[in-house]
Amino acid sequence: MKAFTSQRPFTIAFPQRCFIVLINRPIHHSLLVFRSLQTPATLLQESKMENGEQFQEISKAKYDCLLFDLDDTLYPLSSGLAEHVKKNIQEYMAQKLGIEGAKVPELCFSLYKTYGTTMAGLKAVGYDFDYDDFHGFVHGRLPYNILKPDPVLRGILLSLPIRRVVFTNSDEAHARRVLHRLGLEDCFERVISFETLNSSNNKDGNEHKPSSTGIFDFYEYTHRPNPDIVLPRTPVVCKPFEDAFEKVFNMADIDPQRTLFFDDSVRNLQTGKSLGLHTVLVGTSIRATGVDHALESIHNMKEAFPELWEADEKRESVECSRKISMETSVIA
Ligand SMILES: [Mg+2]
Repeated sequence: MKAFTSQRPFTIAFPQRCFIVLINRPIHHSLLVFRSLQTPATLLQESKMENGEQFQEISKAKYDCLLFDLDDTLYPLSSGLAEHVKKNIQEYMAQKLGIEGAKVPELCFSLYKTYGTTMAGLKAVGYDFDYDDFHGFVHGRLPYNILKPDPVLRGILLSLPIRRVVFTNSDEAHARRVLHRLGLEDCFERVISFETLNSSNNKDGNEHKPSSTGIFDFYEYTHRPNPDIVLPRTPVVCKPFEDAFEKVFNMADIDPQRTLFFDDSVRNLQTGKSLGLHTVLVGTSIRATGVDHALESIHNMKEAFPELWEADEKRESVECSRKISMETSVIA
């Protein structure tokens, strides 16, 4: 049987580790160096000591998890669904909570800005309503048929050799319907939604009924801010606040340093980045302050991050090398 010689760097695999080896001898000679009873760690240490420059450990893949927002990230803002959501929230505020119609659009936006979501703000200032009732009114009436299956994105996601998790402020039923319409329901390891982060203890809002002084007048506050006033806190856990991210990291066993986070909201990304996530703004090619990357569309992720697929290629290369080394050891 014939042994072959290589002057070029060659990859040899060991469990959990992988090395580039500079070979200038027939491979069966080189393999004698790798005494079978030694552990990879010992080999690496010894190799470094003996040969210094000649051995180089291939760094492991930079990312081991991809975290995705749902709305306006996995489908474009141009779908028009967001406009329907806003309209339904404003109708809920006027019809169900009795807020004066003329104040609704501005209050809706200022609560969203301050509390992460309008719903979180409504709860904070003292409105008593059921979470499911709100979600049913706002999302239950959406024209989901405007979302179309996205086989391109499905192909991209399923070809990724990295775990994928959805993290949305929306409720579970909405997330399920959106993913179903897009044809992506089986593309994620896990979907973290409103219900995942907010325990059923708060479901009926009993803990946060209006105080005897009534509802905090947030509309008045935004027009005449008073630095002496401490704003009421919300019981809702949601993006863009740190506690929501930290809960998600624990629940889904996510190492933020090794996770790429896609979202259409700059403030969500900024919090994520401050906690160690690598961040991608979706929906524009213009990168915002405090964000690492920007993508016009989620469809561009393959061109923007080819390294995400390299983990798989490396694994294949390692498998191939393992076969060669086993065959050669028989020769030796
Ligand atoms: Mg979004």
